[in-house]
Formats: sequence, C-alpha cells, structure tokens
Amino acid sequence: MHQQDTATGRVEHPDPSTLLAPAGERGSAIVVGGSLSGLMTALSLARVGYGVTVIERTGPSPRSGAALRVDGEPHETISYSPGARRAAPSLRRITGGTSQRVQSWTAVHDRLRAAVGAEPRARMVHSTAVTEAGQDDTGAWAVTARGETAHADVLIGADGHRSVVRRSVAPRHPDAAFASYLLWIGIAPESAIPAGHRWPRGYDQLSYLSSGGYIMLGYPLDGPDGSRDPGARQVGWAWCDATHNALLLRQRCVVDGIVRHSLFPQDIPDETYRELAAEAEANWPQPWREAILDCVRRRAVTATPIAEYVPDRLVNGRLALVGDAGHVPTPMTGLGFEAALQDAEAIAESLSVVRHGREIPGALRDYERRRLATVRELVRSGQEFSRSFAARANEPAF
Ligand SMILES: Cc1cc2nc3c(=O)[nH]c(=O)nc-3n(C[C@H](O)[C@H](O)[C@H](O)COP(=O)(O)OP(=O)(O)OC[C@H]3O[C@@H](n4cnc5c(N)ncnc54)[C@H](O)[C@@H]3O)c2cc1C
Repeated sequence: MHQQDTATGRVEHPDPSTLLAPAGERGSAIVVGGSLSGLMTALSLARVGYGVTVIERTGPSPRSGAALRVDGEPHETISYSPGARRAAPSLRRITGGTSQRVQSWTAVHDRLRAAVGAEPRARMVHSTAVTEAGQDDTGAWAVTARGETAHADVLIGADGHRSVVRRSVAPRHPDAAFASYLLWIGIAPESAIPAGHRWPRGYDQLSYLSSGGYIMLGYPLDGPDGSRDPGARQVGWAWCDATHNALLLRQRCVVDGIVRHSLFPQDIPDETYRELAAEAEANWPQPWREAILDCVRRRAVTATPIAEYVPDRLVNGRLALVGDAGHVPTPMTGLGFEAALQDAEAIAESLSVVRHGREIPGALRDYERRRLATVRELVRSGQEFSRSFAARANEPAF
C-alpha cells in the first residue's frame, strides 16, 4: 500500500500485487471507493467470506466538514417511509459509535477505517483512481489511472455521485443531475460561541430552521477528540441556498447540469463570505449565527452543490453499485448514509449464498430486487423537497 511521505511530500506507488484481493473462501471482490459505503460494503462482504480489495483514489486520511445523522430517521421536511428496515447490528454498532444522533463524517469514517484495517479479508489501496470497470463471463476487473488491472469475481462501485463504475452498469443513464441549490456547510468550535447561547434545545437535538427563503440544519457534535465536555464540543451547520447557482457555474462546480465538485473554502470569493455573514446576521438565531460567523472569519465554509440520481438499475452482470454511486438523494432527506448501510448489508446477504463464481450475476440480481424500489422512492421523495425549495428560492435574497 502506498502512502505519502510527509517529510518529502513524495507519493510511493504500490506494488501492483497489492491490488490482489486477500484470500476468501467464497470468492474475491473489488470495491471501488473507500468512503463510508465502500468501507461498510468491504466489511460486510469480508464477513460472509469474500476477500476484498478496496481501491480509493484519495490518501489514507480524508477529512470532511460534513456531518451525518446516524440514527436512520429522516429530517423533518421529507415524507419518506423507509419501509422494512432490517437490523444490521455490526455495522450500526461501528458507525453509531457514541449515542450521539448526529456525528461528524470524519468520526464515522475513522471508526469504519479502523474496522476494515483489522479485517484480515479486506485490503485498502489508497491514492489509486479507477478509470474503467469491465467484465466477462468469468470475472470482473478495474483499470487504474496507472494502467494496472485488478481482477476479482465481482466488482462493486462505491465511488460516489460521479461514479465511474456507473458508466458500465447504466451506460444510458450515467450522470447525477444538479438539483439547483447548494448547501453551505461548516463546523465551529463551541468555544467560539458566547457561553449563554450554546445549546438552546439540549445537546442531542438537531435544529431545523427556516428564514428568508433559506433552510438550515444546526447540530451539536462531539469535539474533534470525541470529548463531550462543555466548551470542548463543536457546532455544525448546513444552510440550504438556491440563490448562488451562478457562482457554482462560474467556478465550474456545475457543468452542463452535472455536479463536478464542491466549492472549497479558499475558492469562495471574499464578497460571498461578506454576503454570508450579513445574511447570517439577518436570518439565524444563536448559536448558529455565531457558528457561521466564526466559520466565515476563518474562511472555513464549503459549498456543496446538491446532486440527485434516480437509478433504473443497480446491477449489470458481475458489476453492482452501492451508496451514492447507485442512488443520490438530497442530503436533506438525511437518509443517504442509512441507504448506503442497507445496501452494504443487502449485497453481502445476497452474495453470501454463492457457491460458485457463475452464481454471482444471479445473486446480484437478488440484491437489485431487494433495494431498487426502496432507493428510487427515497430519491424521489427528496426531489419533491428539492423542486419546491429551488422554485421558492428563485428570487435572489442577496
Ligand atoms: C453535505 C452533505 C451532507 C450529508 N448529510 C447527510 C446526513 O445528514 N445523513 C445522511 O444519511 N446522509 C447524508 N449525506 C449523504 C451521505 O454522506 C452519503 O450518502 C454516504 O456518506 C454514502 O456516501 P458514499 O460512500 O456512497 O459516497 P462518497 O462519500 O462520495 O464516497 C465515494 C468515494 O469514492 C472515491 N472515488 C470516487 N471516484 C473514484 C475512482 N474513480 N476511483 C477510486 N475511488 C474513487 C472518492 O474519493 C470517495 O472516497 C450528506 C451528503 C452531503 C454531500
């Protein structure tokens, strides 16, 4: 596995043999993408007897300012009924961590990463982008940007909303669409908030606010070291805004209606930071106002353009999709992570009956039968929110 040498900044490339999956009595699997759904899928496949290689394009310590609701409950605006939700105690125990309902993405990722690191049937390969996925009657493969090819019995795309694997699973419908609004997101240290304003609704409460054509979710988070001591915790916020789509187009975050990437803190113009501060003063109460102002002062705000994708299929032969690669609901459903967890459990359950490699396409069709209708309904229910929010906010507020 290769790592970046922090002293020299040099990246060591892995021996191609590390792309080989460890031995598994049931077969071998490649998982493309080592974020939350890739890690959960690798763990659940390893536990039913597959040797798994996870190929991730970023380095070993990714960070995100996002937060996740890990209790599987939808946010208040979305009328989604998750249907039969099966218990998945092992993954839930790892991802749930503390009893805190909202957790930083980084905390959930770190726990999953440690669990995969301790799993002998799973191997992580970092800093390796997959450019193509393919298959024939006997196996599946991934081609990397360095031209190596990794082979396995089954290949699973967990490579997010701009999935490369999706191009081979659903070539006629490969792209997620921009939903015409963005989320400003940030996390402030509790110490930045005036003491009398910190937790208006109690520490474990998610706050849902609406003002001036905007919607905002505010949530308390444990401190970066997991601490819940007063003063050491964090305040997270996600602010829905449909008035800055032109900025996303200008910065080429959205091209031809397709989301390419987020707008990172250093790329947000000073003028936009000033507008955000003024709108925060005008619209949001404490502690959220001060949390936003703190993030603006530190230039620590990210704008995430919202993408949506309703799948027609999740599977093609020996290739399958999980998580945001398979279906992209707006984060306003609060259920993308829960759906990814259910995918990971379902695909492992379907593949757990395979006795010979030729049975894999049938097992994957079983996975698709279990999940397709549910995830389509999830994305569609979020689209109802997205359409009405984007239309309502069409008149610029600033
Ligand atoms: C701002 C925001 C807030 C959210 N809030 C919530 C919430 O409150 N509750 C909730 O349930 N869900 C929420 N979600 C959704 C949730 O984060 C995702 O649904 C969930 O984390 C599953 O993501 P994923 O692992 O499928 O995809 P991603 O997180 O996109 O991961 C894809 C991974 O694949 C890697 N990759 C991509 N292409 C390649 C390639 N070609 N080769 C190799 N690797 C590749 C990427 O580097 C990345 O690590 C939110 C999403 C966003 C954007």
